[in-house]
Amino acid sequence: MDGLMQNWSMTLDRMLDHAARWHGEREIVSRSADGIVDRTTYAQLHGRAKQASNALIAAGIRPGDRVATLGWNSARHLEIWYGAIGIGAVLHTLNPRLFPEQIVYIINHASDRIILADPACADLLGEILPQCPSVEQVIFLGDEDWIAPHSTECAWGGFDENTAAGLCYTSGTTGNPKGILYSHRSNYLHAMMTLQADALALSARDTVLLCVPMYHANAWGVVYSAPMVGAKLVLPGQRMDGASIHELIETEGVTYSSAVPTVWQMLLTHLKETGGKLTTLQRVTVGGAACPESLIRALHDDHGVDVVQGWGMTETSPLATVSVSTPQIAALSFDEQVPYKLKQGRLLCNLDLKITDDAGQRLPHDGKTFGRLMIKGPTIAAAYFGGEGGDVLDEEGFFDTGDVSTIDTAGYMQITDRAKDVIKSGGEWISSMDVENIAVGHPKAELCAVIGVAHPKWDERPVLLVMLKPGEVAEKQEFLDFLQGKIARWWTPDDVVFVDEIPLGATGKIDKKLIRQRMAGYVLPDASAPNR
Ligand code: AMP
Repeated sequence: MDGLMQNWSMTLDRMLDHAARWHGEREIVSRSADGIVDRTTYAQLHGRAKQASNALIAAGIRPGDRVATLGWNSARHLEIWYGAIGIGAVLHTLNPRLFPEQIVYIINHASDRIILADPACADLLGEILPQCPSVEQVIFLGDEDWIAPHSTECAWGGFDENTAAGLCYTSGTTGNPKGILYSHRSNYLHAMMTLQADALALSARDTVLLCVPMYHANAWGVVYSAPMVGAKLVLPGQRMDGASIHELIETEGVTYSSAVPTVWQMLLTHLKETGGKLTTLQRVTVGGAACPESLIRALHDDHGVDVVQGWGMTETSPLATVSVSTPQIAALSFDEQVPYKLKQGRLLCNLDLKITDDAGQRLPHDGKTFGRLMIKGPTIAAAYFGGEGGDVLDEEGFFDTGDVSTIDTAGYMQITDRAKDVIKSGGEWISSMDVENIAVGHPKAELCAVIGVAHPKWDERPVLLVMLKPGEVAEKQEFLDFLQGKIARWWTPDDVVFVDEIPLGATGKIDKKLIRQRMAGYVLPDASAPNR
């Protein structure tokens, strides 16, 4: 027997319709690379997005066509986003920080018909466009001649909720980038899941600074969840350094923000140097890479900001687990809570999670046994765009995340490492991630990375790379002493290498692939007698 409720297709245009109607005066603030701050409202953005839809239709864009964007977080970007998905086109966010040859590959693979680009990307476009035959038009974001003549009325939605809405390519740390094709339904559900009190918990009272780039992992769904609740939205553009972020937080009264750890690290360094304070920020979600303990403590102790860690990946929309407290953990002291904040957290409702051995057998949730992390649900990819990578689900329909993790008796998942970064030493595994996150707590360290280096006896041994804070000098032994007692003895790196730069990839995470390339000729100081 069918229920007798109304049929309400879950299409994403409804999010901005809702914001315009019920939170119409709430502000959206954008800052451009030259520091100019632009203010608009949800009601105004709604009209502009409808004009963008009409401009796209006039440009020959039809449902299912790929509309690419190449730019930073801004209201101009957001209006094209809604303008495209509202008419059933597929919004394809390109990452300007990728290498030009990767961008060319992605545009050709997606068969993008039109690119809406930030004017700052003009040189990059000049380089790539001759190699992108599917692209018929390039429009610069903010080109009023293209958008302004069009009507602010346009019919949105009215199509099936399973229609594709967004296309986002993974940064491709191994092999070519692969496309994840979100549907209206999957993003709608994801946005609702992230709004739960035990997830991002956004509300109409929040001012949200979206540091996660709109081109990365679906912007953690904030482009939908903020309008859903009518939160004020602050879009920081290209400048993500500590001083710029701090200024925006203070002048706009930001209460909540989400970003990868390196953004918070840069902000904290700036605050330390200047004695600056965070007077409005209440809570942040840190994800995309593991959150160092020093970061959680500095934000909490020095600035009264609560850090919640989230885990996910482009393929999981992305948010899937969040390190919020159960009542038992909430009753503990802050120090006792920290080990749980360091875990990637508990599963959001609507998803299923398991860890397995290489043969696909389920492993116990005892907090010690680690295995392949597998996930299932309506916000999880079922396949890659164009069938790349073939069948990506196991026989139970779970997606293999490529992460290795434990799950404890309280239900907290903890990532041990990326399967490809874990260091295999003497048949046992060393988590590169754990060692680097402890090492970065050293007061002289700005960033740390740990990689495995080939060893004749133990297969691989860890080496710690340290980028010191400006003006600092240090001895290797200081870092080895700092790690002592905090990790198992045999996890101690065989060497500490001071470097001028720890390279960050196109999404702000430490680029281990590039580090491994740079360290290609490196030989361990004493390969025959490792420190075990
Ligand atoms: P991406 O699709 O580029 O966002 O990368 C997703 C990957 O980032 C995941 O598979 C994890 O390896 C890593 N990741 C995301 N969040 C976390 C986290 N909180 N802690 C550790 N690793 C994370």
